Amino acid sequence: MMRVKSSVLINLFVLQCLLILGSSLQDFDFFYFVQQWPPSYCDSRHSCCYPTTGKPNEDFTIHGLWPNYNDGKWPSNCDQQTSLHKSEISDLMSKMQKDWPTLACPSGDGMKFWGHEWGKHGTCTSLDQHSYFQAALQLKNNSNLLQVLGNAGIRPGNFYSVERIKQAIEEGVGHAPFIDCNVDASGNHQLFQVYLCVDTSSTKFIKCPVLPHGRCGSRIEFPSFSNVSESHDEF
Ligand code: 5GP
Ligand code: 5GP
Repeated sequence: MMRVKSSVLINLFVLQCLLILGSSLQDFDFFYFVQQWPPSYCDSRHSCCYPTTGKPNEDFTIHGLWPNYNDGKWPSNCDQQTSLHKSEISDLMSKMQKDWPTLACPSGDGMKFWGHEWGKHGTCTSLDQHSYFQAALQLKNNSNLLQVLGNAGIRPGNFYSVERIKQAIEEGVGHAPFIDCNVDASGNHQLFQVYLCVDTSSTKFIKCPVLPHGRCGSRIEFPSFSNVSESHDEF
């Protein structure tokens, strides 16, 4: 009787160890939710091509939802076996085309970009394909960056201090963003990407536990699409 009891206890202990090990392999501390400003993507060294589904609206678009560790490191490509299946996200397609368009050349319908983001980042979350993309679309809706900036008088086609942009987003979203800049053809630093931090449930914006690298000049351009065109490079 005593022997049976101790072997049950040992089995339970081993099971618990395996569970802890298994969950820590897939674990992460928070997400970066990264949105890009299409005119700045286009007006830079690497040119852009509008997606086959048409020129994006003048609005922030999604770059990715990236799991991250508090020490600044991050997991990537956690499951090379599962690629993104169009059938899993067919009901999200029109929203994906509007809110997560691809701007890389040559023009595409977005599947390659979404497949890349799923493989590199999505596979390291515990979300299935549909939940992963739906969560990102919902976060874009909830952050509503263009409106938040507009409410603070910050509009495309002008220059602003980075501090003013950060403050406006902190007021509108509830937490300070990380602002990532790139450089246009005339050497101006411009607003390129906005990083917001999100808890592991993928729904709630939080204070960023750690910030990525990169910095902007103190005064940056928030360019308008009307001064920027897509690339005419041959591919
Ligand atoms: P870049 O070198 O252009 O900043 O980043 C290249 C890519 O590496 C990003 O698009 C993203 O996939 C990944 N990456 C860069 N920085 C981070 C980071 O701080 N956290 C995570 N999770 N991924 C990152
Ligand atoms: P990451 O930097 O997230 O690792 O990789 C982004 C990859 O997706 C690059 O290979 C890039 O060429 C491709 N890509 C396609 N469309 C876009 C886009 O609109 N924005 C960004 N940042 N990358 C894109």
